[in-house]
Amino acid sequence: MRVYIETFGCQMNVLDSELAEALLRSAGMEITDREDSADVVLLNTCSVREHAERKVHSRLERLCDEKAAGREVIIGVLGCMAQRTGEELIKLHKGINLLCAPGQLHRLVELITAAMNSSPQIALDPPRGQAKKSTTETGFIDLLRNPFRTHLPAQAYVRIMRGCDKFCTYCIVPYVRGPEQSRNPDEIIEETKRLIDAGITQITLLGQTVNSYRFEQSGKTVGLADLLKRLDNLTGLKRIRFITCYPGGFDRAILQAMRDLPKVCEYLHIPAQSGSDRILKAMGRHYSRADYDRLIDDARQIVGQIGIAGDFIVGFPGESDEDFQASVELIRRTRYKNSYIFKYSPRPGTVAARRFIDDVPPEVKRRRNIELLTVQQEVSLADNRALIGKVVEVLVEGKSPLAKKQNKGLSPEGSSTSDNLVQLTGRTRTDHIVVFDGPENLAGKYVDVEITDATALTLIGRQKTQGEDKKDDSYFKNH
Ligand code: SF4
Repeated sequence: MRVYIETFGCQMNVLDSELAEALLRSAGMEITDREDSADVVLLNTCSVREHAERKVHSRLERLCDEKAAGREVIIGVLGCMAQRTGEELIKLHKGINLLCAPGQLHRLVELITAAMNSSPQIALDPPRGQAKKSTTETGFIDLLRNPFRTHLPAQAYVRIMRGCDKFCTYCIVPYVRGPEQSRNPDEIIEETKRLIDAGITQITLLGQTVNSYRFEQSGKTVGLADLLKRLDNLTGLKRIRFITCYPGGFDRAILQAMRDLPKVCEYLHIPAQSGSDRILKAMGRHYSRADYDRLIDDARQIVGQIGIAGDFIVGFPGESDEDFQASVELIRRTRYKNSYIFKYSPRPGTVAARRFIDDVPPEVKRRRNIELLTVQQEVSLADNRALIGKVVEVLVEGKSPLAKKQNKGLSPEGSSTSDNLVQLTGRTRTDHIVVFDGPENLAGKYVDVEITDATALTLIGRQKTQGEDKKDDSYFKNH
């Protein structure tokens, strides 16, 4: 049986799809990248934004139309949308055969098998209040993964917790992903060792609010900084990242770990969402603008060179011009490496959707979105240009999907030069994207690249060849 899995949304879903693949393969099913000839099509969905759900609805419409026209296919919906919409989704798209919530992934084989023979199968997580807090009963299937199949060469995601207890008023995650549950650190170490044995050198620890990681062990609380220390000791590992952080109650020991542990990369993804105290309060974010500024100052002071990425929502209910300008000012002050900027849209089931009127006109949201992006691009361009002449260590991801033909000094995208070089992309420790020409077999390797040019999104460089003089132009602390 051939199964096609399509993934929407965040890194958590990318990892869940990898885990689902491993489960299905071990049950003798084949994973295909051709949807049109698959026997089973699974959509691993995201509910965080309306736009993501709309995309899934249109995919489902097409699949169900094909099925109604005679195609024999099992259609399954996994992930947050399955949990949020439940049976309603089956009523809306009559061809759906199974729904599987994020915490029920371990049942996927059984669900597919049953769906072939009977009516639609529905496996949803219990409502939040009834969810088990015990970490031994949460169905983490991560240890079952196939370490040889990860999203990028030499890189793997490792889930260290799931769920969220923060309840930001606009967000559906605490309802669809359940309460925060941290994994046993011994299990995380075991999984990472297996990944290292399979050739992985960079892991990214995943959690909705990853700095909330806490596990009680032998009468002590193991926090994220403790976990980083244990992981840093593993031979064979070169880089450790963690995403995404929540600014409230951020333990400075994590920043010290980033400074002191050679493998922990100097990168924080730390969404502010707004620069205005009034809006932060309405969003139910449990920190003030001053708290956030202090955290950023501490990060720069403790860690030194650090890449900081942010998230912003524009047009939250009641956002005035003055509130919005506070976000503009926050970008200028923080000097994010990049920001993910979204226009507010009410999500059914959230407090904001119930309590607030979506009163910022679409045109104003659009204008604010563009303005914030423009300011972010100005900041990114200036800071990226300041890196010209520096040498950075890059973990190569593979052929560049980003660089365009007009990028100066580079071969056209996907083309080969006379020396059989292609345009490659990779990331620095600070998560800056770097493109340069090199042989394709560098994917998964670490190389030194001298930055020769920069755009707001990308650093452009040339690989330093072995034996070339290493000037004192290295950007990072020398690990
Ligand atoms: S911290 Fe807030 S925005 Fe992030 S997942 Fe939790 S509720 Fe959603």
